[in-house]
Amino acid sequence: MKLIIFGAPGSGKGSQAPNLNKEYGLFHLATGDILRKNIKEETPLGIEAKKYLDKGMLAPDEVVIGLVEEKLKCKECEQGVFFDGFPRTLEQAKKLDEITTIDKVIYLEVDFSILLARITGRRSCECGKTIHIKRMKTEECECGKILYQREDDTEEMVKPRIETFLAQTAPLIEYYEKQGKLITIDGDGEIEDIFEVIKEKLG
Ligand code: AMP
Repeated sequence: MKLIIFGAPGSGKGSQAPNLNKEYGLFHLATGDILRKNIKEETPLGIEAKKYLDKGMLAPDEVVIGLVEEKLKCKECEQGVFFDGFPRTLEQAKKLDEITTIDKVIYLEVDFSILLARITGRRSCECGKTIHIKRMKTEECECGKILYQREDDTEEMVKPRIETFLAQTAPLIEYYEKQGKLITIDGDGEIEDIFEVIKEKLG
């Protein structure tokens, strides 16, 4: 199975990763995570991508498409994949349709007023997990590493990121609706409750 989960920043795409992996064995392919890893390691791609991420803008299509094509060759992807944060533009969606066949596209719809509190309160771990400060009991992730706030999870970065979503990613709603693959789910709720709805809708 190949799934796409998309939605505005903070809509809860990545939070469904453990559930989707456990239930369906899907590999979590998150372009944001791959880009941040490259930035941390100061690879040429990371240095280039940082210019865009720092402004809440999207990295160039050809860079991200190249990363996805490469990642799809990995062994873990054989059992199935869920794309988190990709595609984010019509150009990326069209390219993805050339590379592979997508079964379903889940759109997590969340009111913009909720996103700000979710994003600014989000703490992340290198292992990929995230947690909201309201639920945090210690500075440490379950894996033992220290949780941190992403540089773009700040109040001033939320606005440009949401604007980017509206201008460049929201047109995907119509694109996948026309393909008959879109499942829209209310993303305002507990992670486990939302996963129950995802399971039900996937059938
Ligand atoms: P995310 O972790 O999905 O919130 O992504 C963090 C940032 O990485 C985004 O704000 C973009 O700047 C960049 N990014 C992630 N995925 C993509 C993509 N598919 N296309 C372009 N830029 C991306």
